[in-house]
Amino acid sequence: MKPDIASSETALPPVPDWSGVAPRVPAPPPLPPRRKTRAVKVGNVVIGGDAPVSVQSMTTTKTDDWAATLDQVEQLAAAGCEIVRISVPDAKAAAACKKIKEGANVPLVADIHFDHRYALAAIEAGWDKLRLNPGNIRDPQKVREVVGAAKARVMPIRIGVNLGSLAPDIIERYGRTPAGMVESALRHIRILEELDFRDIVVSLKAHDVRVTVAAYREMAKHVDYPFHLGITEAGTTRTGTVKSSVGLGMLLAEGIGDTIRVSLAADPVEEVPVCWEILKSLGLRERGVEITACPSCGRVQVDILRLADAVEKITAEYKAPVKVAVMGCAVNGPGEASMADVGIAGGKGMGLLYRDGVMVRSLPEGKLLDGLREEIEKVIAERYPQYL
Ligand code: SF4
Repeated sequence: MKPDIASSETALPPVPDWSGVAPRVPAPPPLPPRRKTRAVKVGNVVIGGDAPVSVQSMTTTKTDDWAATLDQVEQLAAAGCEIVRISVPDAKAAAACKKIKEGANVPLVADIHFDHRYALAAIEAGWDKLRLNPGNIRDPQKVREVVGAAKARVMPIRIGVNLGSLAPDIIERYGRTPAGMVESALRHIRILEELDFRDIVVSLKAHDVRVTVAAYREMAKHVDYPFHLGITEAGTTRTGTVKSSVGLGMLLAEGIGDTIRVSLAADPVEEVPVCWEILKSLGLRERGVEITACPSCGRVQVDILRLADAVEKITAEYKAPVKVAVMGCAVNGPGEASMADVGIAGGKGMGLLYRDGVMVRSLPEGKLLDGLREEIEKVIAERYPQYL
């Protein structure tokens, strides 16, 4: 049935008749093949190999306040964080490791600098991975102790190079450059390899997108260890989201990257959906409803921005990868709706509800949200019962 949206009263353009059009679009062209890497196990999550690119974040609580830390770990996990990193900066934090591990529902990474005793405490407490640069623990005997204990527990180590903390001799030779970051990582890697330790993940983070991308590209030529991607000190929510999306997006689109963290100067729980949106936008992972929403313009005759916002809120908890189009008018509405599971094309104080590109109902503006919710839930029940 041809939709009845373009009445003379609304003076909108004629609505294309999509009812005979195949409702689904062909799959987008594939990305280049993923870089081949070793696979390392972090608790029940695999990084590298054929494992999906995983999502990480980091707590901001005082680690020795184990209850507050666990609370944040839970919030991160509920938002979709698959691995949580926690700094272990002092003896009080090290003492809390056991309690935190007992209560955590996701794999934990201990972020250690300099003092090998805190690494040993996290290993002893059964954590799942260390972030530690062995070259920063000056005493070779202490490095051997930590690496031996990690090996015994099959616990990987991430070497995390930051542009801001390169060794003085590397800065002298290479400057703060991608080459310096790569050399720094290789130096730490050599220490682990000499101890026959190869459960390694590598990160090379800079605040600058171009430096970060160049460093990972170069590193990919030297090792087959999986990469943890991130733009460090990326900034506040807006700046950090853009920089991380551009930098991580460039690398992931080239097949580089096995686990990601978006660093925001904000509540860490906000980092998690950004990670997921990056992965979803490249078709690397599926999670939750994907909303296509028009920005609205002078043609719109319903409050489409508020509707899109409301749809995002009511579907935030849904895990099924349902595609929803929220469109303001007949210009792009039916077309976008034809590529979604459920769609709305607005008219004058009303909207047309589409299912698989076929118009199923016309609803007054006040009923659009409920109508969309109902249709989305039907799609989940029929197509994604595993998410119910
Ligand atoms: Fe304007 Fe949205 Fe209609 Fe596009 S779909 S013409 S942005 S109201």
